[in-house]
Amino acid sequence: MKRVIVSACLLGINCKYNGGNNRDPLIVELFRRGIAVPLCPEQLGGLPTPRPPAKITEGDGFSVISGKAKVKTVDGSDLDVTENFLKGAYETLYVAELFKDSCVACILKEKSPSCGVRKIYRFENDDLKDGRGVTAALLSSKGFKILPSEDRESIEKLIEEIDE
Ligand code: SF4
Repeated sequence: MKRVIVSACLLGINCKYNGGNNRDPLIVELFRRGIAVPLCPEQLGGLPTPRPPAKITEGDGFSVISGKAKVKTVDGSDLDVTENFLKGAYETLYVAELFKDSCVACILKEKSPSCGVRKIYRFENDDLKDGRGVTAALLSSKGFKILPSEDRESIEKLIEEIDE
């Protein structure tokens, strides 16, 4: 059985920082077929829901993993949540490695400081920048194929390959 790790919010689970979700019918269908494995790194890292929004201070998720950057809340509380983000990334990696032989990809929510694959928000303003979230960086550094939730063409191609 092939497996795909997915950001849990894409399944419709209300795990977003604001208590909402990013339900995606394609991900729901993968879950109904027993293929999608939903995980929320920020919840796995011990953060509550709802929770204050957070951003990476500089660089991207790779910088956080190497200790060169932090993750801080941006609601004015200026809390350092770096350890939570790292814990969530390593817990997600733990599950992905349990499925190492059957995990064909990880479909992750774009623009998130945990799950963003190509884009994350800048700490200092609301501009998008190129870069990976902490979990996306860790999974890709360990050899897992990661796809951004917005790359519909690649996701549809992946589903075709699963069906072959
Ligand atoms: Fe959780 Fe990732 Fe979705 Fe954020 S983007 S709610 S960390 S699964």
